[in-house]
Amino acid sequence: MSEAEEIERLRAARERVFERIAEACRRAGRSETDVTLVAVSKTVPAGRLRAAVLAGLTTFGENRVQEAAGKQDEVPGSTWHLIGPLQSNKARRAVALFDCVETVDSAEIAHRLDLLVAEHGPAAGRAETLPIYLQVNVDRDPAKAGLNPGEVEQAVDEIGALEHLRLEGLMTVGRLVTEAEQARPTFRALAALSDRLRRTNLALGPGLSMGMSDDFEVAIEEGATVVRVGRALFGERPTQR
Ligand SMILES: *Cc1c(COP(=O)(O)O)cnc(C)c1O
Repeated sequence: MSEAEEIERLRAARERVFERIAEACRRAGRSETDVTLVAVSKTVPAGRLRAAVLAGLTTFGENRVQEAAGKQDEVPGSTWHLIGPLQSNKARRAVALFDCVETVDSAEIAHRLDLLVAEHGPAAGRAETLPIYLQVNVDRDPAKAGLNPGEVEQAVDEIGALEHLRLEGLMTVGRLVTEAEQARPTFRALAALSDRLRRTNLALGPGLSMGMSDDFEVAIEEGATVVRVGRALFGERPTQR
């Protein structure tokens, strides 16, 4: 496929996803401008991501620090969210590479990120504070990362006080479901948790990162402000991850 064809295909895929976002917003009585699309680009090579930028997709989500490091320099004009697990030994790298870390799941890792941002300052051209989300394991699935719902309040108190991080909101990875509707209780529970905590804790922002290719419309109906969409934009991945 020529680059022009690639750009055209990605532009069409982007348009379809935005139409679906708009419809979900209409159903929920929300404004489209309240929903940010993160194009999940794991396994997608840098060349296709350059085409994606030209097609109007500029915010990418990567779940591995290493993979993002290898691609970012080749994709100018883009913004990057970390959406995969962050180990302490990769935190320094992550601060240098990412505009937003969506997967903070402990006060320890938050303290580490805060220190690193303070030490080295944000990467060139980036904000003074690092935007983050707290990852919540809403369904208490032992196979999933994230704070248990009962641990979030304490974490918000502690992390909300850190000077160099900005707590944008909460993030969750829904269960693998066969029907989008089955994901609704998870999304509704995350939104309810956010509402409850925000009544008493001003440090927690209103962001809700939830919903992927198979269920982002349901997530938007339940209040998602960030949807993380991979396959609906780039097609199936070679290996499922
Ligand atoms: C891969 C991934 C996505 C995107 O999944 P799709 O089904 O391709 O839309 C979203 N969020 C996280 C955390 C992921 O790892």
